[in-house]
Amino acid sequence: MNGRLVIIGIGPGSAGLITPDAHAALATATDVIGYGPYLNRIAIGVHQTRHASDNREEIERGRHALALCESGRAVAVVSSGDAGVFAMASAVFEAIETGPETWRTLNVSVIPGISAMLAVSAKLGAPLGHDFCAISLSDNLKPWSLVCHRLRLAAQAGFVMALYNARSRARPDRLGEAFDILRSELPSDTLVVFATAISRPEERVEISTLADADQTLADMRTLVLIGSAETRRIRGTSFLYTPRSVPA
Ligand code: SAH
Repeated sequence: MNGRLVIIGIGPGSAGLITPDAHAALATATDVIGYGPYLNRIAIGVHQTRHASDNREEIERGRHALALCESGRAVAVVSSGDAGVFAMASAVFEAIETGPETWRTLNVSVIPGISAMLAVSAKLGAPLGHDFCAISLSDNLKPWSLVCHRLRLAAQAGFVMALYNARSRARPDRLGEAFDILRSELPSDTLVVFATAISRPEERVEISTLADADQTLADMRTLVLIGSAETRRIRGTSFLYTPRSVPA
């Protein structure tokens, strides 16, 4: 049996941001696995089996995909944005690493997608034009103390920060705590952007400063971007960018 498993990033929301390679890989799948709302974004043919799941239990979903692949199916695992950024690709590889020996030789590949930070960056102008980092504020998979430590060091290092999983109903106050840490390290006029549901109909962008940043502007569809000392708005335009160089 010649099963295969393709892990596919379907971009941040709009159909136009799904790459042709992603479409091609989806079209030839017999089984499509993913979080229900992500599956709703793609066309699934009548000949394809749809396996919708909730957003937790990612490793279990990975194991399910690998078992189907081993049985000879052509499986597509779908993630939003890029599947390798805080998403399913690592869960599948973790399942391979901890699973039966036979899973190591399965035909597995990954198709890149447009991650939320890239869509947000394009929307704003070019805020990621110089050194930056991406941090997930979720403490589901790591201790909150580690998130705080990384925020502090990233601020000290002068990185622009793309903060994923910025806020959710289960974690309503963590973003406020993160802003407090950043306020102790960075100037109060540091730019803070709340970019919500970028490339979807309900898209919203709010630009603030660290002094005024209000965590209630964020929900689970929001990426929060923290500017560096060089990040600026161009007067008279709607653009925000980070120059490619830092003065000596
Ligand atoms: N693999 C995804 C990230 C999954 S984590 C990617 O590469 O984009 C989920 C988080 O991504 C959300 O909480 C939010 O912070 C961010 N996100 C996903 N889609 C977004 C969008 N359209 N606009 C803004 N942020 C988004």
